[in-house]
Amino acid sequence: MENFLKRCWANISIDNLQNNINIIKKHINKNTKIMAAVKANAYGHGDKVIAKYLEEFGVSWFAVSNIEEALALRSYGTKLPILILGATPASYAKILYENNITQSVFSKEYANELSKEAQKASVCVNAHIKIDTGMGRIGFSANINDIDKTINDLTNIYTDNNINCTGIFTHFSCASDLNNDSSAYTLKQFESFKAICSLLTELGINVGLKHCSNSAAIINYPQMQMDMVRPGIIIYGLSISGDPNENNGTKPIMEIYSKISMIKTIHKGESVSYGKLFTAKKDTNVATITCGYADGYCRKLNTSHVIINGHKAPIIGNICMDQLMVDITDIPNVKANDTVIIIGKQGTQSISFDELAESIGTIGYELVCNIGRRVPRIYTKENLTVNITDYLINNI
Ligand SMILES: *Cc1c(COP(=O)(O)O)cnc(C)c1O
Repeated sequence: MENFLKRCWANISIDNLQNNINIIKKHINKNTKIMAAVKANAYGHGDKVIAKYLEEFGVSWFAVSNIEEALALRSYGTKLPILILGATPASYAKILYENNITQSVFSKEYANELSKEAQKASVCVNAHIKIDTGMGRIGFSANINDIDKTINDLTNIYTDNNINCTGIFTHFSCASDLNNDSSAYTLKQFESFKAICSLLTELGINVGLKHCSNSAAIINYPQMQMDMVRPGIIIYGLSISGDPNENNGTKPIMEIYSKISMIKTIHKGESVSYGKLFTAKKDTNVATITCGYADGYCRKLNTSHVIINGHKAPIIGNICMDQLMVDITDIPNVKANDTVIIIGKQGTQSISFDELAESIGTIGYELVCNIGRRVPRIYTKENLTVNITDYLINNI
């Protein structure tokens, strides 16, 4: 037995993770804090191990999407402050308090509910105020027509005895886009956020930590870093703009490997996989690979390729749940049990999440988040395996 099942697995480079954090640090001032977005299982990379190293590399906050992700981080032992970016049912007020988790407060109605539940439990919940400056998702409106109401609501929340507001933030919708229209929009978002903060400050309110920059803003708008930045995708080394050729010095930290289970020659006229999408025009050597869409290799990628022995091997036929087939007719010396690169580099060939995402009209974020639970995550540092997370067989 090997120490993990070599069927389809992810290799995650802690060295590249450290490189990426150093790049972020180069773009911000020494006193600007980093709140690392580790939602969605650290964008598919495994929150347990990633959070541990991020803490070592000097981040001071974690951001997650929901209370279960926050409690998971606490169960791994982190003492750092955690912000829940999305909604948590107010009935969790006591659990938020007991676990020292900071909740985003994004509407008057939500604040009232949370305050009521906190009061019932005799606790005071830490919160950051979310301002909607143009993302149109959650938050108090920063629109000029609503500003009086917003300031009035926020004044009440900042003085609420059961909500302790230690920060205020907003989120940009197009900071990765540098065309005139988008940069004007981002600037306007930033200005209206600052206006809200100033109005509150003028009323004698200590607004706490002010933060607005996602990965794209960290790179494109260093003047917007305020007290803290909230990088996500850049930590994991993927493109912020969707352009696979973007180069800001960060490196992808995850590669995906798989194995060949069988090799065969099919004859002219024979078909491969569901729906017989591929039919051989001549005798064709086919390798079956133990990776499918349940591992996160999206079914739409059926015109893509993998890397075998430093060569591109085109996918043929539909991608199955657990397996996919490639044409290896032009690749010498391929054997069953050979390792295949699904995402990564070998020789002169490389395939990235960003390239694959672009080819099917999505973004790298979505592909990394979808790497399956059954794909063991192997963490390496200076060429040594430092951790293996296997969600099916617990942690080894
Ligand atoms: C996910 C998220 C981030 C991080 O975004 P990236 O584009 O991955 O850097 C920051 N802030 C909020 C509110 C988020 O939801």
